[in-house]
Amino acid sequence: MKIFKNPVDFQAYCFEIRKTNTLGFVPTMGALHAGHLALVERALKENNQVAVSIFVNPLQFNNPSDLEKYPRTIEKDLELLDKAGASAVFLPEAKDIYKEKTSLTFNFGTLENVMEGKFRLGHFNGVAIVVSKLFHFALPHKAYFGQKDLQQVRIVETLVKDLSFPLELVCCDTHRETDGLAMSSRNVRLSANGRKIAPRLFEGLTMATKLVKEGKKPAEIKEAFQKFLQQYPEITLEYFEIVNYNDLQTIESIEAGNKIALCLAVFLDEVRLIDNIVMQGQK
Ligand code: AMP
Repeated sequence: MKIFKNPVDFQAYCFEIRKTNTLGFVPTMGALHAGHLALVERALKENNQVAVSIFVNPLQFNNPSDLEKYPRTIEKDLELLDKAGASAVFLPEAKDIYKEKTSLTFNFGTLENVMEGKFRLGHFNGVAIVVSKLFHFALPHKAYFGQKDLQQVRIVETLVKDLSFPLELVCCDTHRETDGLAMSSRNVRLSANGRKIAPRLFEGLTMATKLVKEGKKPAEIKEAFQKFLQQYPEITLEYFEIVNYNDLQTIESIEAGNKIALCLAVFLDEVRLIDNIVMQGQK
């Protein structure tokens, strides 16, 4: 497995690789877990070479303490990626990615004025800038993202379409612990008690999907979800939204057959956790 720190060297490598191979690319911020590895595995099935980037992108953190506390486990990550069969890892430093300060500003309209975009101002601008740069360096045929970060996937889909990046975006299912907790690099920051409570988030989401199936209205489902979470005072809800999948706007009624998403963000042990379930409105 080749390791690159310099963007120009990584780009030259990928340029050569893609002449005779299909190249899959998995961008990450490291502290890898089985959810990341599932993306690598899928990429390996669909391409004969896979490159992974590990870069904790300062531009997408609106909270300096979150950036500082973000787990970093490079040695272990490299071992896991080598075992998984990745061909190359791109491990740049911020000074190589942002040689000069960028003032580029994206506007994703309605896609970013809700949920993560609303509560983490500037987050998706930072994501769009780094993903664009990474795509230019890696030149992949296919790029793999997780549904765990649903709003990110929808934004990157728009980025790829509107800027004509010549690649196919693949959205992979959310990988969960056996108790339902969505895998996340931030989970290691939970206390033992927090880790015990955290699976209740998926339980609450699953309960909410049942209410959708019973034909309940979003307002009723939201109320039931909030009531459910009140059993766990350790959890502070930032948002729970039922949105239309296409524009991510909050909906007041659920149309049969419409693709919707139930999305949440909470704080638990001062760790910010997100999760979602995508489903169809019931006929
Ligand atoms: P991150 O390192 O958190 O930026 O994640 C890198 C990629 O892995 C993103 O596309 C995430 O959506 C994806 N990812 C993170 N956690 C999971 C998970 N539990 N299941 C599937 N994909 C995930």
